[in-house]
Amino acid sequence: MKRDPIDRAGLAPRFWERKPLSKLTEQEWEALCDGCGKCCLNKLEDEDTGVVELTCVACRLLDDETCRCTQYEIRHQFVPECIVLKPDNLDTHAYWMPQTCAYRLLWEGKPLFDWHPLISGTPDSVHEAGVSARGRTVSEFETPEEEWEDYIIEEPV
Ligand code: SF4
Ligand code: SF4
Repeated sequence: MKRDPIDRAGLAPRFWERKPLSKLTEQEWEALCDGCGKCCLNKLEDEDTGVVELTCVACRLLDDETCRCTQYEIRHQFVPECIVLKPDNLDTHAYWMPQTCAYRLLWEGKPLFDWHPLISGTPDSVHEAGVSARGRTVSEFETPEEEWEDYIIEEPV
C-alpha cells in the first residue's frame, strides 16, 4: 500500500456522517478528497443550456499517474484560476464537480462510496475502483482549446 498523500491520520471514524460540512476542521475537510483527480480535468460548459461536459484534457499541473496536483501548495502561481473549494462556496461549484466527488456527494446528502480512502483505508482504492483520472488524460499543453470538444469523455463512475 502506498503512503496516503493526504493526511487522514487520527480522524474520528465516519466524522463526515456526524458533522455538517461547515463544522469540519481543516484536516477533516482536506481528508474528504478521494484523490480521483477528476476535478482537474477541463470541462466545457454550454453557455445557453448550462450543460457541463467533461474532457480528458488535464490541467497542466495534474500528474496522470498519481492524480495529484504536482504543485498543490503553490499552484496559484501557475494556475491562478484554480478553485479553492470551501464549505461556503460549494453551492456555487457543486454542479460541475464530478458525480463521485466526496464534496458533491455530501452536499447532495449522499453517502461516500466504499472505495473512498476514508472507508477503505488506502488511497489506492479509488484507482482500483476505476473511477479516477489515472491513465485517461491528455495534456492541455499538447491539445489546443479549440479541439477540446473532440476529447469529451463520460465520467468514469
Ligand atoms: S473530484 Fe473531488 S474527490 Fe476527486 S480529486 Fe477533486 S476534490 Fe478530490
Ligand atoms: S492547479 Fe492543481 S489542483 Fe488546480 S486544477 Fe490544476 S492540477 Fe488540479
